[in-house]
Amino acid sequence: MSKATVLLVEDDPLQAEATREILLKSGYDVSLAQDGVNAIKMVKTSRPDIILLDVILPGLDGYEVCRWLKLEESTRGIPVIMLTVKKELADKISGLQIGADDYLPKPYNELELNARIYASLRTKALQDELRMKNKQLEELLGKVEYMAITDALTGLYNRRRLYDVLTKEFERSRRYATPMSLLMLDIDHFKRINDSYGHQSGDYVLKEVATVIVNSLREVDTAARFGGEEFMVVLPNTERQNARISAERIREAVAATSFQGLKETLTVSIGVAGLPDPLLDSEDKLARCTDYALYRAKYNGRNRTEVCEGAELQKIG
Ligand code: GH3
Ligand code: MG
Ligand code: MG
Ligand code: MG
Repeated sequence: MSKATVLLVEDDPLQAEATREILLKSGYDVSLAQDGVNAIKMVKTSRPDIILLDVILPGLDGYEVCRWLKLEESTRGIPVIMLTVKKELADKISGLQIGADDYLPKPYNELELNARIYASLRTKALQDELRMKNKQLEELLGKVEYMAITDALTGLYNRRRLYDVLTKEFERSRRYATPMSLLMLDIDHFKRINDSYGHQSGDYVLKEVATVIVNSLREVDTAARFGGEEFMVVLPNTERQNARISAERIREAVAATSFQGLKETLTVSIGVAGLPDPLLDSEDKLARCTDYALYRAKYNGRNRTEVCEGAELQKIG
């Protein structure tokens, strides 16, 4: 550990020398300023660990120096102990009000001086540590938050986050009577990929499909991995028929992608539902209707897009 550095600001040469002696004996590195302007210059260039600041100085006095240091972002954190012969409470208060960290009336002895310096340095060290821990905690929280809403394999939003977005967009759509659509997408015969090429190849395909989906969408659309080999997309401000066009774009893009190591063409089936639809009065019903459309796409031969309305959902109960 290197020595702590003290800047002593004291215009009286005798007092300065006496205090300097004590500080050196206690193991500090000491530099000396004899007036306020020099004190500020030295703080800026040498960044001391602590400042002992005489109140009565020629020119800029100790209060003004302290105010300046505490207003300046880069020097604010350095503890300042005010030194003065005045013992009145009013002075003490004005010293602390301008941001001084402590206050030491003259004449002080060696013990008092050392105790105040030690206390201020320790407080500063604790504050620094706390600030660092807070920063680490914030970073950690950011990571946890990211993990809580992200699918680890594809980097897309996960199911939980998808529901949050869906709920928000559903409410907005109902309140402002704007359209919105939902897509549900499922890879066709995905089990065969796993069976023929192994789980790792299956994972690779999932990641690639996620990329194809994202690249086919607008910025305002939200894609998520719903689970397994299923994906969902929320399309704000989009009528069902335009959502079908988006779905077809994704479907064609997947079919046109050549996946490394795969002999066969990979295809997806997509279900579409959307608002306005008087029978879809909750986001759950909207999701169920989309799921039904997907089921129909599978039933009707896969590698296709189907669009459903609430009335059809009602028919099947
Ligand atoms: P369909 O056309 O009817 O959708 O047939 P499918 O084979 O795609 O559907 P099925 O639901 O029978 O199979 C889905 C497979 O997806 C089964 C499961 O092992 C696999 N799977 C689910 N999650 C993952 C994953 O994270 N990685 C890999 N590699 N496979 C997964
Ligand atoms: Mg003085
Ligand atoms: Mg599936
Ligand atoms: Mg499937």
